[in-house]
Amino acid sequence: MKIQTIAVHAANEPDAATGAVAAPIHMSTTYLRAADGSYPGGYVYGRSENPNRVSLEVALALLEGGAAAAAFASGLAAIHAIFQALQPGDHAVVSQDIYHGTHAMLEKVMLRWGLDISFVSFDDLDTVRGALRKNTRLVYLETPTNPMMKIIDLAEVIALAHGAGAKVVVDNTLATPVLQRPLDPSSPQDGSLGTCPGADISVHSSTKYFGGHSDVTGGALIVKSADELFTRIREEQSLAGAVPSPFDCWLIRRGLATLPLRVAAQSANALKIAEFLQAHEGVSRVHYPGLPDHPGHAVARKQMSAFGGMLSFQVAAGEAAAKQVAASTKLFTQATSLGSVESLIEHRASVSGESASTPRDLLRLSVGIEAEEDLIEDLEQALES
Ligand SMILES: *Cc1c(COP(=O)(O)O)cnc(C)c1O
Repeated sequence: MKIQTIAVHAANEPDAATGAVAAPIHMSTTYLRAADGSYPGGYVYGRSENPNRVSLEVALALLEGGAAAAAFASGLAAIHAIFQALQPGDHAVVSQDIYHGTHAMLEKVMLRWGLDISFVSFDDLDTVRGALRKNTRLVYLETPTNPMMKIIDLAEVIALAHGAGAKVVVDNTLATPVLQRPLDPSSPQDGSLGTCPGADISVHSSTKYFGGHSDVTGGALIVKSADELFTRIREEQSLAGAVPSPFDCWLIRRGLATLPLRVAAQSANALKIAEFLQAHEGVSRVHYPGLPDHPGHAVARKQMSAFGGMLSFQVAAGEAAAKQVAASTKLFTQATSLGSVESLIEHRASVSGESASTPRDLLRLSVGIEAEEDLIEDLEQALES
């Protein structure tokens, strides 16, 4: 089945007990035990398993072409579970260009726990190769990166890491499985990555495109095979207990139904906006992999089916002018986060902190599903101001 059909139908049968077409929300934390001690419904206790969580996990595994999925209370909880499933003393090579919260969590929590982590630039794969060690268990990256929208060649990183016996984790939040399938590149929309064996884990902040409406916090990871590492991740999920509520799972599962439609509209809008900004004299640079002169354009064409709803640009008149633009839009809401139906604008350097390498004159856009003409008109009046 195509992804649009999976998004609607996966683990979304009418309710057997009532015939309800929209899935019920199962709030119960505990389940009936039969006289012989068995559990006729297959469920025991809410932290371990919940029908809404199972439905979400089954749908996510099918969407990404993975063997299994685990849902968490936030994106960072999902990422944390992956690193916690390693042993103290294990080594990981992590891209410098990752979500700033992931970087902070790894530094403040996982280093203290005894993991050994090398944060390196993935701009040049020789740097990655040089960072690999005998005890390197994981290579962790995001592509496209945020907010600079750099593209990293997945097939090359995967070959390199697997050659060194390390697993590859891709934070696929920005691309979503609609545009990029790190685990199952044999069936990308355009068939071009067919010979790549695929990454081992894809991880998401469900808070972003999966939920898609800025109203639910969640995270999830999808694995290529349900191996020993996944068994430990499942233990982290049920024993550390950073699980999403039944209602949160229901909201995210509902969001998935429209994910392919939303991402298609967001990608189409973002491309038009990038072209508009590139032609505007008040803008010095536009960072969007869909533009033919973007340094990662060729690789993006190879590993993505479209270029996504995120882009950033630099305001020619500098930081103060950039902040003025962000304060002057009427449709783009000035707020952090991304992936929702409404368009957002953000002065990224003042959110991700002083240490960040983000240019001070840079604005990040999360493009929504509004009409492209209205969004462009809004940016035009803000840039005039
Ligand atoms: C937001 C985000 C996260 C963290 O997810 P939360 O749901 O906020 O915990 C991780 N990675 C990326 C790329 C993100 O955008």
